[in-house]
Amino acid sequence: MMKINSELTVFKEIKVIIFDIDNTLLDFKKCALKSMKKAFKKWKIPFNDKYLNTFLIINNRYWDRYENGEITRDYLYEHRWQEIFDTLNINAPGAQFEQDFIKNLYNSYEKVDYVEDILIYLKPKYKLLIASNSSYNEQTSRLRGAGLLEYFDSVYTSEELGAAKPSKDFFNAIDKDLGENIKKNNVLMIGDSVNADIKGAHDYGFKTAWFNFSNSKEESKADFIFDNLLDLKKIL
Ligand SMILES: [Mg+2]
Repeated sequence: MMKINSELTVFKEIKVIIFDIDNTLLDFKKCALKSMKKAFKKWKIPFNDKYLNTFLIINNRYWDRYENGEITRDYLYEHRWQEIFDTLNINAPGAQFEQDFIKNLYNSYEKVDYVEDILIYLKPKYKLLIASNSSYNEQTSRLRGAGLLEYFDSVYTSEELGAAKPSKDFFNAIDKDLGENIKKNNVLMIGDSVNADIKGAHDYGFKTAWFNFSNSKEESKADFIFDNLLDLKKIL
């Protein structure tokens, strides 16, 4: 479903586009499933496809807490898998398992449909940036592995900036880096998270496009709502 919530003239002002990575450019669910299977195999734990859902629910809860400033990324990596194992009644050391899982995850490059088509279309017209709540080395390595890094002028991560989406500090750091000539209404944030990507960028003053990647029933104040990357051609 596509929905244009602002006048089309609003999008004529856009000069810079900031993309989220997971579930915007790369398919996190596919990447996570592959990474889980590989790590379970290494640890000789029998794998069941149903485990993916447990991972996604608990993982989301941890990332929400990180985005609210309640926990650090180190805390997340130390506790997430232990909670998943406890929930699944699997007896394995979560923090150690995490190291194998995360290594696999940062070597998984499952792309969202039409991602290259849309980047080829946008690249000559806009400055393209990345904004991710993760670490710089890990995310650049994933984008390089997927063959997507070349499309982007800069990659901004919460680790480097010392602030995470949806905080004002995160978006302000990018804004400052863009210089005086770029105004807030020249910048469009595209991402799948209603809170981290859309509310964060909207509250800061950037324009927003919500990629409803997971068919969520959530409400969003985004200027544009879409569920297929090619829909962006309607406004850009
Ligand atoms: Mg995302």
